[in-house]
Amino acid sequence: QANIPVGIYRSSVDGRFLSANPAMIRILGFDNEKEMFAVKAADLYIKPSQRQEFIDKISRDGSVSAYELQLIRKDGSSFWAAVTAKSFTNPQDNQIYFDGLLEDITVQKEAQEQLRQSKERLDIILQNIGNGVMVIDQDQNIILMNRRTRELLGFSSDQPDLRTLKAALENCRDQGLILLNSLEQDYFRNLPLTIEKPYPRILYITATPFTDIDGRSAGKIFILADVTREKEIEQMKTDFVSSVSHELRTPITSIMGFAKTIMLNSNISREDLTEFINIIFNESERLANLIEDVLSISRIESGRVSYKFKSVDIVKIIENVYQIYKMQAEEKGLKITLELTAGLPQVMADQDSIHQVLVNLIGNAIKFTESGGSVKIRLFQQQGGIILEVEDTGMGIPLKDQDKIFEKFYRVHRPGKEIQGTGLGLSIVKQIIDAHRGHITLISKENQGTTFRIILPCPGQEETKKNID
Ligand code: ATP
Ligand code: MG
Repeated sequence: QANIPVGIYRSSVDGRFLSANPAMIRILGFDNEKEMFAVKAADLYIKPSQRQEFIDKISRDGSVSAYELQLIRKDGSSFWAAVTAKSFTNPQDNQIYFDGLLEDITVQKEAQEQLRQSKERLDIILQNIGNGVMVIDQDQNIILMNRRTRELLGFSSDQPDLRTLKAALENCRDQGLILLNSLEQDYFRNLPLTIEKPYPRILYITATPFTDIDGRSAGKIFILADVTREKEIEQMKTDFVSSVSHELRTPITSIMGFAKTIMLNSNISREDLTEFINIIFNESERLANLIEDVLSISRIESGRVSYKFKSVDIVKIIENVYQIYKMQAEEKGLKITLELTAGLPQVMADQDSIHQVLVNLIGNAIKFTESGGSVKIRLFQQQGGIILEVEDTGMGIPLKDQDKIFEKFYRVHRPGKEIQGTGLGLSIVKQIIDAHRGHITLISKENQGTTFRIILPCPGQEETKKNID
């Protein structure tokens, strides 16, 4: 009995010890039974109130099982104990006694605490990393998944819990068939998974198997990375190269051609020379504009563009751009007019960007309107902000192209009358207006004309409504 590592004792309800085995005495750090019996049970508790809780529980239930408490040894050090005890009434004196087993569980408690801490740390990491993490068992039930996984798979936080892999792949193209078909492979890396709802995304999935205690396969751990942006950039680069290289090559070929002609002909006429130099100049201008657009896009997309928002007078900017285009419009036989409301409030905007917006919209209006047509630029106020309209009586934009023209490099195909351009202008306009928390819409009818309308929010706008129609 002396060797059992479990303490065995009997105590009275008022906390006197009546018996204890050697292990009990040793666990509590006493030298002998006499020394231990001199101590009241309540004095062994770290918190005396815990003794009362213990008595309450055992009185209520008749027994306790593996009841955990913190006790103090003779030397003052503390330890965790698990007590299993039963109360009984002695018929001789009608008093209540407890018979109990006591085990020192400090080591287990510490291990448990370490486990808890490492689990908590893991949980914090899981919930906060940018990647999705999901664990499934052999039957494709979800054992664990972090918040990010739900987001990436297109679920909102108020949707019910996902229990199976199949349910989790509901928003994917073909219900995630590509992933389901890959499950036989132990490992895979960067499997592209397309999410279709609520909006399109591309994920890369990496899978690693894990095993149970016997080394049998128990399930898989998936890491989900959102590569939508990277894919977009990749696509953009491809589009960019094909679209821009063509646009670059054409003017360069003609610049080089005409420059060479001038170089090789020493007796070229004054008239020809002027014409050739004009072409060279125009082509260079086209190149310069293209390069400027490309740089704008790359600045905007890389986030390197810094808008300097300050109070600006849009009327001034319009008049400025109008001056630039007036000649060009008239040369082409177009009537260009301004309809500006006086006394409009200033808006918070970046001056250069708004200038660029106007250059693009007015430039397009002139470019896509044939001789005899007209271009109107309007500025007025309405509930919701300042409205800027550029209206033309030109060739219009077919309905099927209308929602695409703000995409980079998107151009309307007009067989037989292709007009120069790279398709960057409107995407620059859109990005600038977005950055100003504004809105751009269009109304257009083929062969009748197009109106682009921009709404810019203005601060502290009063309830003034003006109708200018
Ligand atoms: P860039 O502006 O880069 O020189 P672009 O003018 O072709 O080239 P965007 O300004 O982005 O490109 O316009 C995209 C397309 O939308 C144009 O190719 C054109 O077909 C159509 N579009 C734009 N504005 C008008 C307009 N006012 N009337 C008719 N079509 C237009
Ligand atoms: Mg344009």
